[in-house]
Amino acid sequence: MTSEASMVSAPSTDPVTAALDEVHARHVGARGGEIPTYIPTLSLVDPDQFGLALASMNGNLYRSGDAEAPFSIQSVSKPFVFALALSELGLDEVLHNVGAEPSGEAFNAISLEEGTGRPDNPMVNAGAIVTSSLVPGDPAEKFDRIRRCLSAFAGRALEMDEEAFASELETGDRNRALAYLMRGAGSLRSSAEAAVEVYFRQCSLVVTACDLAVMAATLAAGGTNPRTGERVVEPRVAEHVLTVMATCGMYDYAGEWLLRVGLPAKSGVSGCLAAASPAQFGIGAFSPRLDVRGNSVRGGAALQDLSERFELHFVHDTGLSAPVVFRSEDLSATDPFTPVTPGSREPVVHLRRLQGEIEFAAAETALDDLTIETGIREVGTWLLLDLSHVTRVNGVSAQLLDARLAGLRASGVTVFVTDALARHLLRSADAEFTSAEEAWAAVAGGQA
Ligand code: GLN
Repeated sequence: MTSEASMVSAPSTDPVTAALDEVHARHVGARGGEIPTYIPTLSLVDPDQFGLALASMNGNLYRSGDAEAPFSIQSVSKPFVFALALSELGLDEVLHNVGAEPSGEAFNAISLEEGTGRPDNPMVNAGAIVTSSLVPGDPAEKFDRIRRCLSAFAGRALEMDEEAFASELETGDRNRALAYLMRGAGSLRSSAEAAVEVYFRQCSLVVTACDLAVMAATLAAGGTNPRTGERVVEPRVAEHVLTVMATCGMYDYAGEWLLRVGLPAKSGVSGCLAAASPAQFGIGAFSPRLDVRGNSVRGGAALQDLSERFELHFVHDTGLSAPVVFRSEDLSATDPFTPVTPGSREPVVHLRRLQGEIEFAAAETALDDLTIETGIREVGTWLLLDLSHVTRVNGVSAQLLDARLAGLRASGVTVFVTDALARHLLRSADAEFTSAEEAWAAVAGGQA
């Protein structure tokens, strides 16, 4: 697709694509920034190209403009190779060799940590050279693993741009200098030449804005590619990578980026950008002109715009989407459709029905409805905790609810829980049922 095509993108009927098109249209006219020349092939591209893509957690892919235009991934490879190194070696071993502090310096700065000789973080060139050298195997094996891993993130087999590789191999003396410096300081284990060659290869893998959207969405989805369903890395690894992207991904603009956009992101000198909104989506952007820090001008502006419009800033207060306790009633155990009159001593079934996703805040809210103080009568009553409308319970919430149920049982309350989900997560119940009706039948049986 040419940049001409991107100027006249047809109005879309799909609302998400329409929103992307709108953002695209607002920024497509911007002409600020420069094409980098230090890697000769990068200066040969059409500078007007501009593509945006968004991959959702459902695996849908939305695109606008030059979203299928190919380019070399450059530094956007860094977080994904970091993910591979973390998966292979674990966090402690990786951090032994490369730090996790924002450097506040340019991506290619010649600077290492005082004392240890470690590069500041895996997102600057020095750190990325060390990170890729940590991947197990000889240089050919290292690159093969890197290519396969990045392909799994993208959900398709990625190929190298041999010209981009040759171009950087010829002119990449600054990276070579960094590698030798780190070799001298003891922080680079393999030979300097071998390390930069693997690094240049990873930088020359060819992707599109769509690929970057899927790769970022895979991180946003906790390491599972939402289009192929493949688990590429463990959720913990995805969290670590997104964290370092948030603090270091935009180099000496990382702080202001987090302030203004509030999304973990990584930029590359080919004009590409990948950003992730955890548990929501991944975005890929491509527009070759760069600002003085080496970040895509239009890509950055589009991302800031999207973040504001979609309220994506990571500290944005989303509030609770729905009340977690949507039914809280005290019913007669002998006549299940009749609410008990306050103060009556007849046998009571306390029905508490929860809904939606139960994370810490929701669980803590639900606890309020599951106490003696808020009306659960002790001795000889039933608590029927109906979780059949709950979509997910995370570990901490299951523990909190479990502890409360154990307390209630100790006070003499018989606890019934419905739903298969609960069976795995909540252990402190007297019995589990597949439906509230079944539980009622058990209560009635107990009464008979
Ligand atoms: N290959 C490029 C370099 O090492 C990557 C830099 C970047 O994208 N910021 O200079």
